[in-house]
Amino acid sequence: MEKQIKLIPSNDQSCGWIKCLGPRENFPVLEGNHSADWVIIGGGFTGIAFARRMAVARPNDKIIILDAAAIGEGASARNSGFAVGTSTFGSSFHPDKLPEFKRINRINQAGINSLRELVDDYQISCQWREVGRYNCGAEDSTTKSADDFVSWLQAADVEFEDLSGKDLSKRLGIPYYQRGIWTKGDVLLNPAALVRGLSRSLPDNVALFDHSPAIKISDHSGKIHVDCPEGAIIAKQLVLAGNAYLHAMAPYPVHTIPLTLTSSLSRRLTRAEQAALGDPSDWGIISLHSMGATLRYTQDHRILIRNTASYRAAEPYSTQQMQSNKQIHQTGLRERFPMLADLTIEHTWQGVLSVSRNSTSFFGKLGERIYASGCYNGSGISKGSAMGVALADFALGDSNQLLEDVIKYPSPKWMPSRPLLDIGMMIELKRRGYGAGADA
Ligand SMILES: Cc1cc2nc3c(=O)[nH]c(=O)nc-3n(C[C@H](O)[C@H](O)[C@H](O)COP(=O)(O)OP(=O)(O)OC[C@H]3O[C@@H](n4cnc5c(N)ncnc54)[C@H](O)[C@@H]3O)c2cc1C
Repeated sequence: MEKQIKLIPSNDQSCGWIKCLGPRENFPVLEGNHSADWVIIGGGFTGIAFARRMAVARPNDKIIILDAAAIGEGASARNSGFAVGTSTFGSSFHPDKLPEFKRINRINQAGINSLRELVDDYQISCQWREVGRYNCGAEDSTTKSADDFVSWLQAADVEFEDLSGKDLSKRLGIPYYQRGIWTKGDVLLNPAALVRGLSRSLPDNVALFDHSPAIKISDHSGKIHVDCPEGAIIAKQLVLAGNAYLHAMAPYPVHTIPLTLTSSLSRRLTRAEQAALGDPSDWGIISLHSMGATLRYTQDHRILIRNTASYRAAEPYSTQQMQSNKQIHQTGLRERFPMLADLTIEHTWQGVLSVSRNSTSFFGKLGERIYASGCYNGSGISKGSAMGVALADFALGDSNQLLEDVIKYPSPKWMPSRPLLDIGMMIELKRRGYGAGADA
C-alpha cells in the first residue's frame, strides 16, 4: 500500500473561539526520523481521545500525534460548541428504529461523560455548561420535524420541554421562533478551550507535532511509514483521525464527504444590550430545519451564528468569499436581534466537517495495522471523543458496551467520486435548503 495525501488542510487565523483564548505555546514540527508504536494523523477530539486511552492502557508504547496545522485547531476548535447528548433522527418515529436511536445517544453520552471527567480532573477552563439545547423553528415547515423529534424523545424517555414562541421569547430574549423543543443532556462550551486543554493533559508517552502534515503513507516489511515535509515516522500501527480529510488519507474509498461551514462571533454585548435581551443566561439553538442556523448566546455575552454550509471538496473560501459569508451572518443576526441594532461581528471563520449519505460514521480497520474513525455528521465533540476511545479499545481487543454500540454503525453508503460527486452534492444541498426561509 502506498498513498500520497494531496489534500492538506489550511486553516484561516480568524476563529473567534481561538482568538478569545490566551496565546498558545506551539508543539514542535516533526523533523528527522522517528519510530513509534502508534502514529495518529489528526489531532482533534478523535485523535486525542485515542491517544489518551492507548497511552494509559499501554504505558510503555510510544504514541505520536501529527497535525497538518496547530494541534486541535481544525474543526475541533472551529465548531459551534454543542457537545451533543441527544441526536435528532431526522425521520418520523418508528418503533423498530428505537434501539438505534438509543444506541446513538448512548455513544453521545459516553463522549460527554469522558469529557466531563477530564474537564474536572485537569480543571480545563472551557465554559462547560450542562444546560441542554433548544431545537427551534421559525417557519411552519418545521412543525413536522418538531412533532417527529418529540415522538422519539418520548419513546426514548429523554427529558424535554415543548415550548411555544412566547415561552422561547421569555427564555432567550428573542421573539423570533414559533416553537422550540428543549432537550436535556447537551453541554455548551468553548471548543477551542476544551481541545487545547485536552491536548495539554496527555500522558508523557504521547508526543504531539504541530504543522506536520502527513503527505505519504505506505507499508514496508510489516511497518507503516509516514512521511512529512521535514521528517518521517516508522510505526507499528497507524490511526487515521482526519475526519473531513479522512477520504484524502484513507488507502481505500470511505465515502465520507467534506462540508465547509462558516461562523461568526459578535463582540461582547454591553450591559445595556444584555438587559435589552432580558438578561438571559447562556443558551444554544440548533435549527429544526436541516439547513437552518445555529445560534449561541455565550457565557461571556457574545453571540455566535453559523448559517452557511456548502460542499467545496474542502477547498477553502477566499477572503472575498468570507466577506460575503460575514454579510449573511450579519443579516441573520439583525433579523433575530432587532433590539441590538449596533451589534457588530468580531470574528468570522470557516471549518470543515464530514458527512455521509446515510448519516453514519466510519469506524474500524482500513487494512492491516490501519485504524480509522470519523465522519460524525456535525456532532463530533461527543461522538469523536467516544469513538476515539472505542477505537483504542477495538485495537486493544477489549469488549465493552461503548464498543458494542459503536461497532453497530453501518458503513457510509457508496458515493461516486468527483466530478459526479460535486454535481450530486450541489443538487442535494439545494434540496435540503428548500423551505429554510426564516430558519436559514
Ligand atoms: C462550523 C462547524 C460547526 C460545528 N458544530 C459542531 C457542534 O456544535 N457540535 C459538534 O459536536 N460538532 C460540530 N461540528 C463538527 C465537529 O467539529 C467535528 O465533528 C469534530 O471536530 C471532529 O473531530 P475530529 O478529531 O474527528 O476531526 P477534526 O477536528 O477535523 O481533526 C482532524 C485533524 O486532522 C488534521 N489533518 C487533516 N489532514 C491531515 C494530514 N494530512 N496530516 C496531518 N493532519 C491532518 C486536521 O488539521 C485536523 O486538525 C462542527 C464543525 C464545523 C466546521
